[in-house]
Amino acid sequence: MDNKELIELAKKAREYSYSKISEFKVGAALLTKEGKVFMGCNIEDPSGIGVTNICAERCAIVKAISEGYIEFEKIAVVGGRDSCLEECLPCGVCRQYLNSICPRIKIVSLDNETIKTYNLQDLLPYAFNEKFDS
Ligand code: ZN
Repeated sequence: MDNKELIELAKKAREYSYSKISEFKVGAALLTKEGKVFMGCNIEDPSGIGVTNICAERCAIVKAISEGYIEFEKIAVVGGRDSCLEECLPCGVCRQYLNSICPRIKIVSLDNETIKTYNLQDLLPYAFNEKFDS
């Protein structure tokens, strides 16, 4: 699956965003090593307790792992308010989460109409690493 297709799936996932507090809607599409895609959206806790919110990236990863998939190639992320998209990269929590599970994953983003690709390691230098996979 190419990056453009993955971005389109992230846009689709974004439609399900539950973000009544921030109104910042995020969608993610996670590609497994096997070629399966898991989609996720941000889900905010209406109580306003920030720690209980979940980002689109972690939503997609939790879905994938709970269905037996653990190796990931890349994740596309799109976000913004209303219909306006802006470049949206994973937050610090998601960067660490991705690093702990799949440190070599690529991040695919959309900056205006330009698709960009990042290595997670470039977005999270000096990451905390307790577990290393091969
Ligand atoms: Zn996040």
